[in-house]
Amino acid sequence: MSLQSIKVSDLLHSIGTTDTVTLHDVNLEGIHLHPDHLIQWYLDLQSMSAERVGATFREIECGIISTCDHCGNEFIRPIWVDAYDCTFTADMYSADTDDETFPIDDKENIHIDEPLRQAILLDEPVALHCLDCINDDTIQTNAITPDEIETIDYSDEWGTIIFR
Ligand SMILES: [Zn+2]
Repeated sequence: MSLQSIKVSDLLHSIGTTDTVTLHDVNLEGIHLHPDHLIQWYLDLQSMSAERVGATFREIECGIISTCDHCGNEFIRPIWVDAYDCTFTADMYSADTDDETFPIDDKENIHIDEPLRQAILLDEPVALHCLDCINDDTIQTNAITPDEIETIDYSDEWGTIIFR
């Protein structure tokens, strides 16, 4: 599935209504996703006015093919974003826009590529290390602290090195 725009006409025309969209197996240009770990997420939309729609990208899950800064091996880096809030507006020139404001086009569609990319890149660590290097006590991996490792569910396939 390629990314599609979502029509928000119904939301703009009846303020206060909400909608939830579930998206599976989405690829995103510019992000090197593993084909078995494309993006899954939910999108909650809420009508705020005739020009604005509030959006929460929920439970974003995917696996990015990354190169370990230490050993140079490629590995699958698991991404999990609990929630990312943003706003879509038909009036990008209004005063209350910010970095989390995205346009609604003149056909009343929103385009989700850019906010989704921002949500995923928020999770980008300073340094990338594969699971082998993280588990090797002799290597100083300051990207992830031991506390954080426990909160990441590295099942067998996650964090493993990809052999080609
Ligand atoms: Zn490594």
